[in-house]
Amino acid sequence: MAKNNKQTDPLAKLVALCKRRGIVFQSSEIYGGLGSTYDYGPYGAPMKNNIARLWWDDMTLKHDNIVGLDSAVILHPKVWEASGHLKEFSDPLVECKNCKKRFKVDDVVEPFSAKFWKNISQMMSSFEPGKLIQPEHLPEGSPERSMTGKILLHAQLKDKLVEGELPDLDNHVYNEYLLDAYNQCPACGEKNSLLKPRDFNLMFQTNMGPVEDENSTGYFRPETAQGIFLDYKIVAESARLKPPFGIAQTGKAFRNEITTGNFIFRTREFEQMEMQYFVKPGETSEWLEKWRQLRWDWYLSLGIDADKLRWHEHPKDKLAHYAKEAWDIEYLFPFGWGELEGIHDRGDFDLKAHQEASGKDLTWFDDQEKERYHPHIVETSAGLNRTMLAVLCNAYKEDEQAGEKRVYLALDPKIAPVKAAVFPLVKKDGLAEIAAEIYDDLRTRFPVFYDKQGSIGRRYRRMDEIGTPFCFTIDYQTKDDDTVTVRWRDTLKQERIHKDQVKAYLEN
Ligand code: ATP
Repeated sequence: MAKNNKQTDPLAKLVALCKRRGIVFQSSEIYGGLGSTYDYGPYGAPMKNNIARLWWDDMTLKHDNIVGLDSAVILHPKVWEASGHLKEFSDPLVECKNCKKRFKVDDVVEPFSAKFWKNISQMMSSFEPGKLIQPEHLPEGSPERSMTGKILLHAQLKDKLVEGELPDLDNHVYNEYLLDAYNQCPACGEKNSLLKPRDFNLMFQTNMGPVEDENSTGYFRPETAQGIFLDYKIVAESARLKPPFGIAQTGKAFRNEITTGNFIFRTREFEQMEMQYFVKPGETSEWLEKWRQLRWDWYLSLGIDADKLRWHEHPKDKLAHYAKEAWDIEYLFPFGWGELEGIHDRGDFDLKAHQEASGKDLTWFDDQEKERYHPHIVETSAGLNRTMLAVLCNAYKEDEQAGEKRVYLALDPKIAPVKAAVFPLVKKDGLAEIAAEIYDDLRTRFPVFYDKQGSIGRRYRRMDEIGTPFCFTIDYQTKDDDTVTVRWRDTLKQERIHKDQVKAYLEN
């Protein structure tokens, strides 16, 4: 990300607000902080819990064939061999021999690729758009000419390269050509300093028990899904389910990401909300379609703007090792589009792999059809922290009322960590006592906030900044007619209601 100007960069402003108001802040700060680890404070923890609970309820209450599970974080090490994670769950990494920094290859080559096509289009300006590109059209000795030649040769084509369109070319190969052509470190700027890419496994390794040897190696799960696959039969049998059915789980996952960043978007420790849906073979497409619709609608139900969401389908050559078809729901963050959730057709990859490795029968017996099969799996895999970041970015608002600027979070009341505040206009003349009574009546039913200190304006601003939808203010008129003022966060509309109606008002 470019250097932040805290005054104008929207993400930097949100990060500052999150720290100022105890929503999310740097972890281990007294020791100088630990890179890309965050703590969720008194307003962030309930906000995150509210989102997780909305997800859980959406899955397990709305669908009578979906049940919950809370499986272990550290599973048998053989799980990760069978699942393919030990071999395949890696990102290609490239290291600079000059500054020793390490980067994800994808991040390094993206600007190279943009440069390649930009240079090509400038060099080809005398040609018609859509015209085939041939090496001899390009200046002799240029990296573009040599790269075009390599691409055509590799794809066994003579003249099929069209501007902006790659022929059927493996991504690794294209990246290799780009690195050959434009090798320059993005951090120190040194030319030809990037070494050949190598695979870097993202699993977090640890040792279990007092002896440290290869038999004690354990791994923190990189996804919550595997625990669901291992337990699927015991869960289905105990809950008396038959395909199609789903198992939902939320919890921490760990990935030793090469690069982290964009606040809580990419961290090494994060939380997932995953639901694996077990269906009869042949029914996957239908369920994948259904779940895509349901998951899209869920983000809208959180108050996220539809025009900030989009679908991204994974090209076939970029699919994860377990997936047959994969769709992401992406949100338009201040730093660009980023994935919130993947909806994948995992087929029978996982159950077959675990059956083979464990020797245990993981087939399902359909006692009506008298047939045995491995259920196919449609997965919905969402990130809790990323969803919270999307909710925060979407809710962040600034406005100006009567010459006064304010920042507020237009959070859906379901997500707001505090549902209402109760304020006496002043501490004296018995107003604080009336306010405390109302507060006491509400506090066991809702998360509410009571504050009698400081100017009323400042107290309102503080509540706006954590997204509290309503403030109830007790003033001198309350003593005359038992009414209080309700102030709405977004519209600043004020109305008076009887003090006995406050609870019912909030319930509504
Ligand atoms: P990305 O391409 O961004 O690395 P991914 O495709 O590897 O993500 P999945 O394996 O599909 O992600 O994981 C499902 C969800 O888990 C993601 O959509 C995301 O919301 C969340 N997630 C994955 N990695 C991280 C991370 N490092 N930090 C925070 N959330 C993550």
